[in-house]
Amino acid sequence: MRWDSQRLAGRSGTDADQPAELALFGLDACARTFDTPEFRGMTFYEIHARSLLNKVPSAARVPFDWTINPYRGCGHACVYCFARRTHEYLDLDAGRDFDTKVIVKVNAAAVLRRELARPSWRGEPVAMGTNVDCYQRAEGRYALMPGIITALRDAGNPFSILTKGTLLLRDLDLLREAAQQVEVGLSVSVGSVDADLWRRVEPGTPSPQARLRMVRTLTDAGFRVGVLMAPILPHLGDAPDQLEETVRAIAASGASSLTPIVLHLRPGAREWYHQWLARERPDLLPVYRDLYGSGSYAQAAYRKRISATVAMLARRHGVGTERDSRQNAPHGDPPSS
Ligand code: SF4
Repeated sequence: MRWDSQRLAGRSGTDADQPAELALFGLDACARTFDTPEFRGMTFYEIHARSLLNKVPSAARVPFDWTINPYRGCGHACVYCFARRTHEYLDLDAGRDFDTKVIVKVNAAAVLRRELARPSWRGEPVAMGTNVDCYQRAEGRYALMPGIITALRDAGNPFSILTKGTLLLRDLDLLREAAQQVEVGLSVSVGSVDADLWRRVEPGTPSPQARLRMVRTLTDAGFRVGVLMAPILPHLGDAPDQLEETVRAIAASGASSLTPIVLHLRPGAREWYHQWLARERPDLLPVYRDLYGSGSYAQAAYRKRISATVAMLARRHGVGTERDSRQNAPHGDPPSS
């Protein structure tokens, strides 16, 4: 039985008619809706997680071994999001359900403290925002991150955060405090500063300009902040003037580095993105077919050309570039966040 076949009350508070499928998450799970414009049409499944630290499979080729994901699903609703497929493991779909049905691990901080205190835990760096955005809009309501950051700080555990969420600034004082004691890495993703493109492909996110203002604030606060110029969307955000405007804005934000990443289209993301293209730019469907074939990556020659162009622009505008080492990180890709 699909969750979307269940009836959920459209009012604030716990639903009296809870979906039976919540039993999958334990008897104490519950579904909640909030009758505010920000969360209209969204359902939050509050669950009690048994564990929080995830070991990254060794085949993943990413620069971190451990991650924390306090949420599953993301109201930022980027059409290209890599993490979409992970929703299918929950018998939810990778499209609209991913955007509107968000799993919230309400006991995240307590579970993390317990795990960090285990004698077997070796204090390895932990990455956040690598699957879905930990500073998505739900975080404004649930405020899980302050408890998580505090637990990591108290354990002396280094961590990094990748986000599109300007909500991170709410925790700036805490992050500064943590950075006195442990290594804290911060990255922000901005694929393009084209406002029209942003509204169409990242409808639930803060604007690229707001994200870059956040980079400036964090930089002024003493952090080195890398910007993932991700994803660069072929034939939508890759025109020379679009690339230059974006690199110029990233450089002006004070970013410590810029990493260009061309759109990856893995299963789950690919179908949703193609549906969007079919609605918005059907003329590009055959172009994307040529560029991606049946694979997840654009042709190597195209990626090489974009990387070279961005590297040249970065030199022109005075910001360092880094090679993409996050090939398999959903949120890190076109992030996943
Ligand atoms: S790309 Fe990142 S911010 Fe966008 S929906 Fe996915 S997890 Fe959220």
